[in-house]
Amino acid sequence: MSSREKGARCITRGVTITCDIQSGATSFTVQPTTYKAKAYSAASEESPLASTTIARRDPTERDVQIEILFCGICHSDLHSVRNEWSEFMATNYPIVPGHEIVGRVTTVGSAVTKYKAGDLVAVGCMVDSDRSCPNCKRDLEQFCPNMTLTFNSLDKHLGGVTYGGYSESIVVDEHFVLRLPSNLNIAGVAPLLCAGITTYSPMRHWGVGKGKKVGVVGLGGLGHMAVKFGRAFGAHVAVFTTSPNKKEDAFRLGADEVVVTRNSDEMKKHAGSFDFIIDTVSANHDINAYINLLGVDGNLTLVGAPAEPLDVPAFSLIMGRRRLAGSAIGGIAETQEMLDFCGKHNVTADVEVIPIQKVNEAYERLWKSDVKYRFSIDMASLKSE
Ligand code: NAP
Ligand code: ZN
Repeated sequence: MSSREKGARCITRGVTITCDIQSGATSFTVQPTTYKAKAYSAASEESPLASTTIARRDPTERDVQIEILFCGICHSDLHSVRNEWSEFMATNYPIVPGHEIVGRVTTVGSAVTKYKAGDLVAVGCMVDSDRSCPNCKRDLEQFCPNMTLTFNSLDKHLGGVTYGGYSESIVVDEHFVLRLPSNLNIAGVAPLLCAGITTYSPMRHWGVGKGKKVGVVGLGGLGHMAVKFGRAFGAHVAVFTTSPNKKEDAFRLGADEVVVTRNSDEMKKHAGSFDFIIDTVSANHDINAYINLLGVDGNLTLVGAPAEPLDVPAFSLIMGRRRLAGSAIGGIAETQEMLDFCGKHNVTADVEVIPIQKVNEAYERLWKSDVKYRFSIDMASLKSE
């Protein structure tokens, strides 16, 4: 760049370089150029989601620009919009949620090697990490201390916070873009990007498979995927639900047994018998009821993230050398592995497709556990806003 005048600007390859002469020294700030995209956002924890316009960066060298076709609604979107995790992960407003994204590539940067315009792709809960820490080197980007979440994280390119998938498009570094199997219904693929990987990862990690007795607590978005994976991995699957009206569906989804949890006699029958239990419940509940169902060396993994702490008496764990664990989504390589597995075994989420205009109604139903079993937003509906 040749101009040396104060404030001179030149736009090159999607970045604006501003040159200022300050106290005799020349400083350069690199600011990506942006374009406007339609989106839905919430302005505060009491506000409904409403139509808005956001800035997205123009794709730089390693970026993939994606037209979003479907975006799933995760309970984490609801926790975040209502700032229910204020102690751990306070919400920055306005918030554009959405991290179960499926779309079509519209543009790629000059250094992108994996994707081209027209490809069907997906984006999950992360859009960046430092790629140099020990966790990134082990393909565990979800535990990188400098990981960038798809929404409500510091946006390293534009400043402010990242905006998620309730939008017509998104721009993401190719490392965080996933390839879709070609044989699956894409509305039902979107939820795999969070509900899918969040259940697949710990079930694989803790060796769920043939000969194992597996429990799934809560039959919602995550829970119904855990049932499908448990079945696909060859385990014996029992569902624990507070909703008697989900019993038939649980069997249809692949459960071998269904326990309505208010029936304490049925709960007692399973005492000390499980190898692995995955707890997907979004609200405060008594986890001891489930720890007591574990056999010796059994494992209860929490993926559900209620805002309040859970009470665990030491004796529940001591007797039986039981393990209480947690798990967060999965790394990029494992997410691709999960998508490929779903392609091979024909696994998708059961979705209710809605237009974006019904998103607030969908949140109310999600809060009441009234969804079978994931809402998937048809983003074409955003065009009419
Ligand atoms: P969801 O679709 O709302 O499902 C949660 C299920 O929990 C409900 O369908 C219900 O199942 C049960 N439940 C709800 N309230 C309950 C209560 N008071 N007592 C007992 N059971 C109750 O939510 P989701 O999208 O699957 O997400 C579940 C949780 O996982 C959320 O907290 C979410 O933030 C978290 N999450 C964590 C990760 C991670 O990486 N660890 C990733 C995604 C989501 P029944 O009707 O069958 O009882
Ligand atoms: Zn999620």
